[in-house]
Amino acid sequence: MSHPAKHLPGVDQLLRSQQGHVLIEAFGRTRVARVIAEQLSVARQAMAAPEFELPSADVLLANTRSVLCAANPVLTAVLNLTGTILHTNLGRASLPQVAIDAVQRVAGNPTNLEFDLETGKRGDRDQALEHLLKEITGAEAATVVNNNAAAVMLVLNTFALGRDVPVSRGELVEIGGSFRVPEIMTRSGCRLVEVGATNRTRLSDFKAAITDQTAMLMKVHTSNYQIQGFTESVAESDLAALAHEFDLPFMTDLGSGTLVNLTQYGLPREPTVQEAVQSGADIVTFSGDKLLGGPQAGLIVGSAKAIDAIKQNPMKRALRVDKMTLAALIAVLKLYLTPETLVEHLPTLRDLARSDADIKSFGEAVLPAVADCLAPDFEAGLVSTKSQIGSGALPIDLLPSWAIAISARDTEHPNEAIMALASRLRHLDTPILGRITASQLLLDLRTLYQPELLLTGLKAVHTG
Ligand SMILES: *Cc1c(COP(=O)(O)O)cnc(C)c1O
Repeated sequence: MSHPAKHLPGVDQLLRSQQGHVLIEAFGRTRVARVIAEQLSVARQAMAAPEFELPSADVLLANTRSVLCAANPVLTAVLNLTGTILHTNLGRASLPQVAIDAVQRVAGNPTNLEFDLETGKRGDRDQALEHLLKEITGAEAATVVNNNAAAVMLVLNTFALGRDVPVSRGELVEIGGSFRVPEIMTRSGCRLVEVGATNRTRLSDFKAAITDQTAMLMKVHTSNYQIQGFTESVAESDLAALAHEFDLPFMTDLGSGTLVNLTQYGLPREPTVQEAVQSGADIVTFSGDKLLGGPQAGLIVGSAKAIDAIKQNPMKRALRVDKMTLAALIAVLKLYLTPETLVEHLPTLRDLARSDADIKSFGEAVLPAVADCLAPDFEAGLVSTKSQIGSGALPIDLLPSWAIAISARDTEHPNEAIMALASRLRHLDTPILGRITASQLLLDLRTLYQPELLLTGLKAVHTG
């Protein structure tokens, strides 16, 4: 009996085949050769098994292709029709065009990141951003780090390393993922001193908690939950005054922290950064990619003294942002200098402020084409729904919206049919994401402006 290994093709032979060339074109010779060698080695090892079947060249190449395709990770744009505008799993805010252009300009070129063009000497990375944040928020100084979680850690680590920080029991929140206030405090090197009760905390509770070990006072904006009923919390201005009475810094973590009054767009009220600064906070932290509508970043504004101390902390270097983030952030903040046109230019605000009537008429216009794409297996209707702001911002307040509701036709298994459709939509080149409720796939139209984006995808799924 001849040894079957003799009949396995060699790596070179497979590389020279037509399919081999196609793979080399797509993945490069080095990777294709390595995966083919792995496939051959697996086949050789499997030969000991009694039911072993010699794989053909085609099978080996097909397996090589699947391995390479599976190992081809992509970060791609998706069409977010989930109804959650600032979806953390989908990368939160979409940048305005000016910010995309700014990123592009600095990405492939040297920049004046830390170079002062005026003097020709070394400059400060935060300078341009600080300038803008001072003008917009009224704070004396500002800096920026990688995200708001990093901002909170950096502030605590700067002012309270090895010391006590009293926080209201009603504010010891978890902000999704793994950001839990008590854990962040421990990891920042400070000791949490719990104050008051879950539903009620008074100024006198804070006063009683202050000792010679107290480093600072902190307030956390409980952005993702609300306590209702018999509640009481201490106003920022009162906490700031108390902190200053004891010569302590006072920090408020706003989380989302908007720079404009959202009620002017018919949206629920969210505390602004300007209000926090005016209330006397020495340090205010907030996210760049939540309501602000910019790139992922953690912004810190406050007194010149506090910001200076933060900048002196060596951890600042470990948490600093890169030139692309800075470029995007500066471009977004510049839009805030002309608040009257902000809603036209900032995608996050445009989505949030879009009226229910506008979404409805958009939906009525696209519905027939959508229904056409889905027939005969599925049918589509326009239904009223609620969008969420997302990222823990204003979680209680939902925005009235309209969605295309897709349901399966003539099937015993409507649920499975909808799940399968949702899966096919997820596998498109530009995946389309909705949400499934009661055997229906809902595509919230609040975040859709160009019908072709949806129609092209639906057609591809239908023919594919
Ligand atoms: C979202 C949030 C954070 C974390 O901000 P990231 O930018 O996601 O790191 C911290 N504190 C509060 C109150 C938040 O809402």
